[in-house]
Amino acid sequence: QAKEAGRGGYRFFAPEMNRKLQERRAIEADLRIALEQGGFRLAYQPQVRLGSGTITGAEALLRWARPAMGEMSPDAFIPVAEDTGLIGPIGAWVLQEACRRAARWPDGMTVAVNVSPVQFRQSDLFEVVMAALESSGLPPERLEVEITEGVLLGDTEETLATLRRLRAAGVRIAMDDFGTGYSSLVYLQKFPFDKVKIDRSFIRNLEKDASAVTILRAVLGMSNALGLSTLAEGVETAAQAEMLRHEGCESAQGYLFGRPLTPEALDELMLRQRHAGGEALRALG
Ligand code: C2E
Ligand code: MG
Ligand code: MG
Ligand code: MG
Repeated sequence: QAKEAGRGGYRFFAPEMNRKLQERRAIEADLRIALEQGGFRLAYQPQVRLGSGTITGAEALLRWARPAMGEMSPDAFIPVAEDTGLIGPIGAWVLQEACRRAARWPDGMTVAVNVSPVQFRQSDLFEVVMAALESSGLPPERLEVEITEGVLLGDTEETLATLRRLRAAGVRIAMDDFGTGYSSLVYLQKFPFDKVKIDRSFIRNLEKDASAVTILRAVLGMSNALGLSTLAEGVETAAQAEMLRHEGCESAQGYLFGRPLTPEALDELMLRQRHAGGEALRALG
């Protein structure tokens, strides 16, 4: 057997591949346990209106402390959840939990929830969303579903139908990470979005790269023309926020305004804003 395996470098790569596979199996097993035993949490990152600095809502971000391994990034475990089908139940939990929490927020505050392309294609997304709204009592207008371009690849008729049903029910749809894919412009026109979230990679270069400003202007101009609202992701400096405001971007999210917070810390921030008469809060330090 060793002889057979010895050709073409197979013997060299096999242990590495095997190790990766085992690591993924271990993550999968731990994800199942987390699902059964309540091992997931949601963090909430404030979203603010750029003109006034007021909080209008928050994005729910999944958090998982892997037993004996510590916090693991969703960018690392969501792909495993997608490959194993676990994204269905995990995504349903995220929707339930985010809606349940947001139903307690002050009037008008919205919650944005990320939905993975794989989860989206598991056909019953509409029902899963409706169930989360019903059991929480959250008005549909206060839920925003964030999808990436990956959702729009593949079976577009069915995707379009699901997006339209969600929208007809009052749920908002945001395009996440805008500008990182291939033909985002076409998608914006073809699918029924309410909001464009401009990817952090454009914001990061605003201060040092004139072409980043040009792209920003184009994206904002097009979004406005299509009647879409705009949010800049990953805003870290006051200079970026000022440029964005100046260029007419409506809202923003980023470490400048607040890191992803525990639900309690977000409650407190919203409460403070209310007591300040809706006045801008320079969040959080
Ligand atoms: P995303 O939806 O684009 O979320 C924004 C990410 O940027 C978050 O990372 C957030 O913590 C981070 N971020 C926010 N502001 C700043 C900033 O000013 N600077 C920098 N450097 N980063 C900032 P996080 O929480 O690690 O999530 C990563 C990705 O994982 C998310 O990107 C999203 O695609 C995915 N994800 C998170 N939660 C869920 C979930 O519940 N379901 C699904 N399907 N995907 C999720
Ligand atoms: Mg997102
Ligand atoms: Mg994003
Ligand atoms: Mg992302």
